[in-house]
Amino acid sequence: MSKRTKILDLLQTAPGSDYTVMGWVRTFRNNQFIALNDGSCLANLQAVVDFENFDPSLLKRITTGAALKITGTLIPSQGKGQSVELKANAIEILGDCDVEVYPLQPKRHSLEFLREIAHLRFRTNTFSAVFRIRHALSYAIHKFFNDRGFVNIHSPIVTGSDAEGAGEMFQVTTLDLNNPPKNEDGSINFKKDFFGKATNLTVSGQLEAELAALALSEVYTFGPTFRAENSNTTRHLAEFWMIEPEVAFNDLDDNMDLAEDMLKYLIQYVMDHCEEDLSFLEQRLAEEEKQKPQQERSEMSLKEKLAFCLEHPFERLTYTEAIDILKNSTPNKKGKFQYPIEKWGADLQSEHERYLVEKHFKKPVILTNYPKEIKAFYMRLDDDGTTVRAMDVLFPGIGEIIGGSQREERYDVLLGRMKEMHIPAEEMSWFLDTRKFGTVPHAGFGLGFERLVLFVTGMTNIRDVIPFPRFPGNAEF
Ligand code: ATP
Ligand code: MN
Repeated sequence: MSKRTKILDLLQTAPGSDYTVMGWVRTFRNNQFIALNDGSCLANLQAVVDFENFDPSLLKRITTGAALKITGTLIPSQGKGQSVELKANAIEILGDCDVEVYPLQPKRHSLEFLREIAHLRFRTNTFSAVFRIRHALSYAIHKFFNDRGFVNIHSPIVTGSDAEGAGEMFQVTTLDLNNPPKNEDGSINFKKDFFGKATNLTVSGQLEAELAALALSEVYTFGPTFRAENSNTTRHLAEFWMIEPEVAFNDLDDNMDLAEDMLKYLIQYVMDHCEEDLSFLEQRLAEEEKQKPQQERSEMSLKEKLAFCLEHPFERLTYTEAIDILKNSTPNKKGKFQYPIEKWGADLQSEHERYLVEKHFKKPVILTNYPKEIKAFYMRLDDDGTTVRAMDVLFPGIGEIIGGSQREERYDVLLGRMKEMHIPAEEMSWFLDTRKFGTVPHAGFGLGFERLVLFVTGMTNIRDVIPFPRFPGNAEF
């Protein structure tokens, strides 16, 4: 296609020479000014057309959405808003775009509408900014762990273990659903299925990461996870990406330190590397906030919110302490919570998490030592026998962004907990083996990638920070 210069690079180049750019037309004003975007950055390149030098039939095809190849001379810009522009010498239409049917017009579209045309929304400022930041975060996650000597483990996506999240899993099968092979008692014979057993899409890579950590010491996974939970919320997806570090010889305090260091590193990374996109999203958020009633508006801008998270140590307290705060809180006493906090043992809802973070402490919070009844079987039992060494990291506007724990490394205690919680220990012998052969204290957590992207971009719906969201009733594209 002959040498192409990216718009990102061109906008930082001194004028004087000739260049070729390719991209999509955002607008074409006065038969003269083309705003061209190639996704390399938020800013458009202004290409100036001397219409007397071009065939009118070609100019007519320069429409919003059309793909162009422009060769021209980079010159200082006369107009405001850019320092250089391209004086077009040759224009080639790479792909026409019929504006009569093109759904994206150069105006503000609602996020709901754009979700319906997710195949085209990459071409908007908002979504190109979101997905560039999503990429930066993904890169920064690998960099963070790599710099600290962690080994990236690819945990399986199809699993035969049903230890966690039974009922929330998507089954994977090649059996004919209209005529499945049956056992004598009428149940489905999964021995005839592809893997010789019933299988599912993974809900978490943690158990496999634990196996690796007990040899490689410091590992992490970063992969897709699937939950068939019927949660139609702005914070849940049926398919989402999770980062799960697992570290041998770490206790709960080490685990909290790792989580806090990681989150701060990732936020700092985006502030350092995504200035243009962040500023745009900050502006977008400010405009969205203006639509809200005064008392619901955020006191901080997006960048202030991010900086605030970096400046303060996260508040660490136990579940028991949190319950006391919540029980005595004004919304609880005034009956404002949908789920009132009556006694110790209650599972915390998002409204409670957000009260603690946004109203009470006004900063990120790490809650620890939850009642064992509301947490998973693999979390280390505390000495009192009633709580476990769990930790949830709670963020403003999001609620839970990380869930983790120190793991139960004692064989007998783990087996006892599995029996209590009706986890089939026979099928989990591989997991129990690690506790028989050189077991050590270890800890880890799961960070929901989209919840992090949501926080950093200031977007409000998780369906807008993954390219093609999957949620109940929707698997388009
Ligand atoms: P929640 O209580 O918010 O449903 P959870 O307790 O089920 O979350 P975990 O099983 O601890 O979540 O998963 C670890 C992390 O994965 C969570 O802290 C969250 O960031 C993310 N996560 C969990 N479920 C979803 C989902 N359905 N969509 C997107 N992210 C999720
Ligand atoms: Mn959790």
